[in-house]
Amino acid sequence: MNVEILRLFHRAERDKRVTTHCGLVGRAFGASGMYIYGDKDEKVVSSIQKVNKAWGGKFFVKYIDNWKTFIKEAKNEGKTIINLTMYGIPLPNVLEKLKTENNNLLVIIGSEKVPIDVYMLSDYNISIGNQPHSEVAALAVFLDRIFNGLEFYKEFEDAKLKIVPQEKGKKIIQLNNKDFK
Ligand code: SAM
Repeated sequence: MNVEILRLFHRAERDKRVTTHCGLVGRAFGASGMYIYGDKDEKVVSSIQKVNKAWGGKFFVKYIDNWKTFIKEAKNEGKTIINLTMYGIPLPNVLEKLKTENNNLLVIIGSEKVPIDVYMLSDYNISIGNQPHSEVAALAVFLDRIFNGLEFYKEFEDAKLKIVPQEKGKKIIQLNNKDFK
């Protein structure tokens, strides 16, 4: 299953941390990358690249110029478009269908008010509970369910650092770390 994220309407000052956290959650929970529409903010890209460098994997972050065209093209490429929204159908109602219907998903998360066109262009409008909360939490729950808890056993390619879980304390080992700074 290949899951990509589309983060809509990023605002450089207000959303810097939240958008970075969407990327970190996406990476850790098994998505392959995140497209961002909104203010161009190289800090988000560099923060995620830094994490990739130390902790491995190839999670990408790319800016797009036109969200409507991008969603239409993703649809034409055969991706299933999923808009995460508190107004949508509860995830458990469609989860099994989503897992079997298509291997390529584009998951949309908003920041400010999401326009109705996003709802209309999406194949599914899905809620993670019908209460307002956060794009970070919505994304985490969605990925956890779609990947059956992959975050608990996922290994990252070319990791330089790896945590050895401890009951108490912190243990990190360095792997292949000749050129790691
Ligand atoms: N009020 C905005 C609107 O009308 O679309 C939503 C803003 S909310 C802070 C930002 C994003 O979090 C939403 O676009 C959605 O992707 C996600 N989100 C928040 N609560 C959610 C829920 N209960 N289920 C699914 N996604 C949710």
